[in-house]
Amino acid sequence: GFKMGIVGMPNVGKSTLFNALTRTAAAQAANFPFCTIEPNVGEVAVPDARLDKLAEIASSKSIIPTRMTFVDIAGLVKGASKGEGLGNQFLANIRETDAIAHVLRCFEDGDVTHVDGRVDPVADAETIETELMLADLESIEKRLQNLVRKVKGGDKDAAQQVRLLEEAKASLENGKPARVIEVDEDDLKAWNMLQLLTTKPVLYVCNVGESEASDGNAHSAAVAAMASAQGNSHVIISAQIEEEISQLEDDEAVMFLEEMGLKEAGLDRLIKAGYELLHLETYFTVGPKEARAWTVPAETKAPQAAGVIHGDFEKGFIRAETIAYEDFVTLGGEQPAKEAGKMRAEGKGYVVKDGDVLHFLFNT
Ligand code: GDP
Repeated sequence: GFKMGIVGMPNVGKSTLFNALTRTAAAQAANFPFCTIEPNVGEVAVPDARLDKLAEIASSKSIIPTRMTFVDIAGLVKGASKGEGLGNQFLANIRETDAIAHVLRCFEDGDVTHVDGRVDPVADAETIETELMLADLESIEKRLQNLVRKVKGGDKDAAQQVRLLEEAKASLENGKPARVIEVDEDDLKAWNMLQLLTTKPVLYVCNVGESEASDGNAHSAAVAAMASAQGNSHVIISAQIEEEISQLEDDEAVMFLEEMGLKEAGLDRLIKAGYELLHLETYFTVGPKEARAWTVPAETKAPQAAGVIHGDFEKGFIRAETIAYEDFVTLGGEQPAKEAGKMRAEGKGYVVKDGDVLHFLFNT
């Protein structure tokens, strides 16, 4: 599955947010029990109104949303790259994530201590980014030393790694994260395998005060400007409100949101933003037993999409019977869609589209 790491300075609201995310009714109402894999790792249901619609049309007995994993990565402070405090474990945890949700304190509250004695989310973002850049530089130096011998021995993969690491190093020494580098198609796989911290996409999470959750404040506006200059995205959330919502039943939560002038729970927006950030798409399998959502990276072909359900589906892939979401809904289900000629038989080369309702045929 896809994993988002929650990072940020101490006392910015990471744990509050993580708890809200993983305790929310939506996370638990899903047909799988919410599982705490480790105290700081949780899986949440990806909200998708389309899935409910499909289940309603097909009278599916159960609804199974797709999931996203969140990891609360505590312990990033100045000096983390030097291995102070939780340093190394912390960096290893980030390395394993697909993207970073960077929580920034945008709320004023004299009772909550800020480590640097002032609320300045843009400076905080720079502090953390600097630590990540230093950590990348250090790991690059080490790896380059180890690769020299392999390159001398004629190892082509090692030569490619060295070339990419040198490029990343030059960027970092220039004060720029490795994510700004545009990598050739041919290098993409090797580049991703390097697992550099500053190549991970970043979503800034502006944690604002309770009364500011709908429009944000001057701090979140500054973060928004920074994010757009960097090409990163941001969401505005009040972790405290989210924590309160997470303790309510669904219908109570809807009323509470209305009272606060919010269209959608911040957590739903956060999860959706994460989905966009990672260029993920959803396809559906729909039947009387269950309606289920599955996650694939954009541009995934039908056999690999089938492989997300089971490896055998990919190996023995024959074809995918495909109905677009819109057709399924407007025509009123699989049978009417089929009769209207809207069920397509798609082969190995088919690129799955967001919202496709798929049925795979495969050899065993
Ligand atoms: P972490 O160290 O980043 O995990 O931060 P915590 O989630 O433990 O929060 C630190 C403190 O800030 C706690 O006392 C929270 O109750 C408080 N806090 C978190 N979010 C908010 C917020 O939106 N507004 C206010 N006033 N306090 C908050």
